[in-house]
Amino acid sequence: MHKDVLEVLVSQEEIQEKIKELGGRLTEDYKDKFPLVVGILKGSLPFMGDLIQQIDSHLEYDMMDVSSYGHGFKTSGEVKIVKDLNTSVAGRDVLIIEDIIDSGNTLDYLVKLFHYRKANSVKIVTLLDKPDGRQVDISPDYTGFVVPDKFVIGYGLDYIERYRNLPYIGVLKPEVYEK
Ligand code: 5GP
Ligand code: MG
Ligand code: MG
Repeated sequence: MHKDVLEVLVSQEEIQEKIKELGGRLTEDYKDKFPLVVGILKGSLPFMGDLIQQIDSHLEYDMMDVSSYGHGFKTSGEVKIVKDLNTSVAGRDVLIIEDIIDSGNTLDYLVKLFHYRKANSVKIVTLLDKPDGRQVDISPDYTGFVVPDKFVIGYGLDYIERYRNLPYIGVLKPEVYEK
């Protein structure tokens, strides 16, 4: 375990097991479609990379960079498109891949945006869900794990751009924030 990590919430094995399960469900649910899988940078990168390999049907993927978080761990509620998709969502079955839903502001914005752009369907796949943080009424269609209202890092999730490369989800030691 990394020296800055206080506690592991979801282990590498649990993540990979869950991804197989989600991949199986998505394979079944999208077998007659050609979904456009949209990964939200940067946090969803490891999850999306592993998940698409477990979806056994034709798909296309693209990535979008949005931010609602500043540097650190307080949400601003404001969503900004940092990098838009290269692909048109019109008529497509869109599967949004997120690392975590907290306030729900980011996904609420994206779901509305893709509907406005005339997607045929929009579904949400999130590795983690923090329902206690919710500020808007939105719930994911596919969830990996429900986590408590704590700031988590690892497997794509950062604290000031660090820890994204950890293969598990953990909580940092308080002294890391106090430094
Ligand atoms: P929301 O818009 O739902 O409040 O937040 C979504 C984004 O905030 C996530 O995609 C993620 O980038 C960031 N975020 C929310 N909770 C956490 C957390 O516990 N840890 C980290 N590292 N990022 C978080
Ligand atoms: Mg994210
Ligand atoms: Mg972040």
